[in-house]
Amino acid sequence: MRGRSHARTHATVPRPPLRTTPRRYALKLNNAILAAPEHVPLYAELVDKFPVEYIAGGATQNTVRVAQWMSGTPGFAAYIGSIGADAFGAQLKAAAERDGVTTYYYTADAPTGTCAVLVHEKERSLVANLAAAEKYAKSHYDSQPIQAVVDGARVVYSAGFFLTHASETMVAMGKAVAAARGAKVYAMNLSAPFLCAFFKEQMHAVLPYADFVFGNESEAAAFAEANGFAGASVADVALRIAALPKASGARARAVVITQGADATVIAVDGAVTTVAVPPLTSAQIVDTNGAGDAFVGGFLAFFAKGATLVECAKAGHWSAAHVLGQSGCKFDSAAKYTA
Ligand code: ADP
Ligand code: MG
Repeated sequence: MRGRSHARTHATVPRPPLRTTPRRYALKLNNAILAAPEHVPLYAELVDKFPVEYIAGGATQNTVRVAQWMSGTPGFAAYIGSIGADAFGAQLKAAAERDGVTTYYYTADAPTGTCAVLVHEKERSLVANLAAAEKYAKSHYDSQPIQAVVDGARVVYSAGFFLTHASETMVAMGKAVAAARGAKVYAMNLSAPFLCAFFKEQMHAVLPYADFVFGNESEAAAFAEANGFAGASVADVALRIAALPKASGARARAVVITQGADATVIAVDGAVTTVAVPPLTSAQIVDTNGAGDAFVGGFLAFFAKGATLVECAKAGHWSAAHVLGQSGCKFDSAAKYTA
């Protein structure tokens, strides 16, 4: 699998509960936003007042690390992203490579992106300062070494965050995959409600190339709202996204929407399948950050091995459950899923 998009470092604040109310910065739990000027003091305040943990992140890099782990196959996954020439960038590269992911970073003239992750009673609010992560250069993608990586990949995935600054590169990847006429798949993620609302045009430019679209229930609701069918059920939204025009007729688009503890919805070819999520006790959940990323990693690793979509969702539920038991998107690399 070849992942791409931006690399970020997560500063995670686990417990105790926030002494600063989320309202101070107008943050919402279970949401992800881009830092605005009023959020700038948040980063220093976190480091000053809370026991901060630094965790390698970036939604796409998380997914690719989990896919590498879940595949059980050395050399399975590679990651392409953008970092700065600094300590956080080195940390990100080391974290990916420690998990067996081959990395191809573009080094941008900006600091490595960071994302403040505020955890309150197991729910999180994310504030991303993209920095280098939104400086990915298309010329890097077009260069021979990266083209060779894309050529060799069967599954190409990018989270939706790449839409904010590099939808052109996503379209180029989608075209490369479509030209393979079904031998490869391109997968994307709605990733955040704000992307559905404010990057609608970019999203619709990429969607025709998407063989897989992942998302969660709040992103499905935001997509419905942005596209004139507000209030539609998750199943209905999934069917509508699945039915959008497709660049390559080689395969039907599958839309996979997770809903936390509730069943995952898969829409393909006008039909919906739901896959129940094995229940977890509250003691088994440390933090929900990275659950969706981990789900996609398990799902795509099993898709690449030829599993059915239901088997893929079950693998995704397992990898997500494992990551829910840790702070941030971390896992015990020795843990092994048996279908
Ligand atoms: P996101 O991280 O994008 O909000 P979800 O909350 O939908 O994604 O979670 C992704 C997956 O993580 C779910 O499909 C499920 O497998 C697992 N998961 C998340 N929350 C819970 C929960 N409370 N109990 C059990 N599994 C969960
Ligand atoms: Mg959730």
